[in-house]
Amino acid sequence: MYKFDFVAVRSPEEAVARLAERGPDGCPIAGGTDLLVQTRARLITPAYVVDIGNIAELARLAQEPDGTLWIGATARMRAIQLSPLFRGAYRVIAEGAGLVGSIQIRNLATAGGNLCNAAPSADLAPPLLAVGAVAEILGPAGRRTVPLEDFFLGPRRTVLAPAEILLGVRVPRLPPRTGGHYARHTPRREMDIAVVGVAAVVTLDNGHCADARIALGAVAPTPIRAARAEAVLRGQPLSAEVIAEAARLAAEDARPISDVRGSADFRRHLVGVLTRRTLEQAWRNAQEGGVIP
Ligand SMILES: Cc1cc2nc3c(=O)[nH]c(=O)nc-3n(C[C@H](O)[C@H](O)[C@H](O)COP(=O)(O)OP(=O)(O)OC[C@H]3O[C@@H](n4cnc5c(N)ncnc54)[C@H](O)[C@@H]3O)c2cc1C
Repeated sequence: MYKFDFVAVRSPEEAVARLAERGPDGCPIAGGTDLLVQTRARLITPAYVVDIGNIAELARLAQEPDGTLWIGATARMRAIQLSPLFRGAYRVIAEGAGLVGSIQIRNLATAGGNLCNAAPSADLAPPLLAVGAVAEILGPAGRRTVPLEDFFLGPRRTVLAPAEILLGVRVPRLPPRTGGHYARHTPRREMDIAVVGVAAVVTLDNGHCADARIALGAVAPTPIRAARAEAVLRGQPLSAEVIAEAARLAAEDARPISDVRGSADFRRHLVGVLTRRTLEQAWRNAQEGGVIP
């Protein structure tokens, strides 16, 4: 069995202080559902872990007075899936969280762990990119914010510097008549990671698409936005033809690899299919009002 020191802390500041003191041979642990699998497989061999999973303030889910939503780094996927905060336009976030693993995994898995582990297939990443979330980070030099689309650098790499931790993500207030949807393809219905995941968020204005954001998972080294597909939708009346063109451009924007779970061509095809479906559902949700919580 692989052994490491376990460091318990009571606050985010103490977590950062312990990480800074003990140096780069260790890392935070939240739910452990990625980390422990990786240590068991010896993919990583930390000398110590700092347990941030029991810091109550880090698990906060809230609507702030300015209407933004806060998702604390150690909020569990199950809490996000069930929270009444993630309705209407924000439902896309609960949809991503609700697809992670099984109920048992979702009771442990955290939002921050999903993002910091930086797997290209992470299910919470496309929904949070599509709503324009911003990461808040604490480190020895203090606090800083980074738009989530700049947070990922590559598979298992983020902008987090040594001894920095993710505090949570802030979701901006979305305009009325905004709707979203996240869907993924997996060979099995549950307990499988996305071969492709697509999140779409659209805002309507008099039947026209005032804004659209599309984020793709598992088709590039990091989760990405499909910028050309978004551009073709903006200002247009949403029709089957416009959506088909956006789906075609999203498939072109994807940079998938071939692996045991699907060829690059198959993934590209799936991006087109899922972009069309998620846009259609996001559009329907927006027409229904995209209730602001
Ligand atoms: C059976 C099984 C099924 C799964 N299914 C899915 C799935 O369907 N979809 C999916 O996306 N994922 C899935 N996962 C992966 C995993 O459950 C998620 O990525 C989960 O959200 C990770 O959160 P965690 O709290 O367990 O992270 P941990 O394992 O605790 O940490 C993961 C990494 O992030 C770092 N970290 C954690 N929190 C912070 C922080 N606040 N600041 C800085 N660094 C931090 C850790 O140091 C570590 O490197 C599955 C895992 C298992 C075991």
